[in-house]
Amino acid sequence: MNIIFPQSVEELNMPDQKPIFVTQPYLPPLDDFLPYLRKIWDSKMLTNNGPFHQQLENALCKYLGVEHIALFSNGTLALITALKALRITGEVITTPYSFVATAHSLLWNGNKPVFVDIEPETLNIDPTKIEAAITPQTTAIMPVHCYGNPCNVEAIQTIADNYNLRVIYDACHAFGVKDDGASVLIHGDLSVLSFHATKVFNTFEGGAIICPDAKTKRHIDNLKNFGFVDEITVVAPGINGKMSEINAAFGLVQLEHMEHVLQRRAEIDAAYRSGLANVNGIHCIPQTATEVRNHSYFPIMVTSDYPATRDELYQKLKDNDINGRRYFYPLISEFPMCRGLSSADTGNLPVATDAASKVLCLPIYPALESHQIDRICQIIGG
Ligand SMILES: *Cc1c(COP(=O)(O)O)cnc(C)c1O
Repeated sequence: MNIIFPQSVEELNMPDQKPIFVTQPYLPPLDDFLPYLRKIWDSKMLTNNGPFHQQLENALCKYLGVEHIALFSNGTLALITALKALRITGEVITTPYSFVATAHSLLWNGNKPVFVDIEPETLNIDPTKIEAAITPQTTAIMPVHCYGNPCNVEAIQTIADNYNLRVIYDACHAFGVKDDGASVLIHGDLSVLSFHATKVFNTFEGGAIICPDAKTKRHIDNLKNFGFVDEITVVAPGINGKMSEINAAFGLVQLEHMEHVLQRRAEIDAAYRSGLANVNGIHCIPQTATEVRNHSYFPIMVTSDYPATRDELYQKLKDNDINGRRYFYPLISEFPMCRGLSSADTGNLPVATDAASKVLCLPIYPALESHQIDRICQIIGG
């Protein structure tokens, strides 16, 4: 008989050596979804504000604690439509530390993004640096609740009120996040969500705009439907941003599983924090005093006290089939479409530049198992 002793932690875990990615979409049991498909096949209502679309809007308003929501086919079209709805022109102040779609939406709307540096702890736009970036052309601020941690919404609103600016939150990371007893999505003029497959709540592809009142929602609903207000009246150069019945029905099924999803994410977050607590040079982003978190990401900062660079650790994990992601590296301001913008100079963005060089997002999703988290922590620790 041949007894083979494991040579390393990695070998011990050989049976689980399926690649681990930074996220894995949550899917409910397929059988729960099939009755919805049958209804769609029977009704032949595939899109254009069908029954599931209406049901999902109502269910999301209730779940999120907001008054009005307009569903979209994805978050990027929702961002662009939000800018169109408020007729945003000229310059818009935003963060370089985000997914590219934040600034892309500004460029698609013909706006000039003006990048402002971030806070070192929350990694959100630094309100104390916004005023210096305001010019006569500035019309709006587009902050991001990065990793689902709420921005300093009061400070941002005070500046917006003083200078008569609009605020559109890219809240694509902030599904379900609550602060001061209310949804974080009620702040600013509009907030935009993404329901992409990689997000905490997904409809395969999807997105939404949280609207403050029924009139704004009606206007946004018209814009996402080519600008139609009735059968023969078109009032604006609208877009097709509608969510289909399949995606809406899927969202209704997903919503029933959110409690489990958020609970698992919280457990994984806690497991990483304790597993990495004694690793020299690894800094977990502190949790803000937010009431309800969604743990949409688990970012760590690989500091100079760590025996390897961030990219070496990224590669070491990759060699072990663990695929973290360097969100957000490079900064949006470093991409070619932002070259030539004076606000994109790294000298203007020291905190964001530093964060982008150190950050690594570790895998976090409901199906991630505790022995996998242990293995990830062991690899980082040793
Ligand atoms: C995902 C994401 C978007 C884009 O959403 P899509 O639904 O993929 O178009 C925009 N901004 C941020 C911060 C995101 O994370």
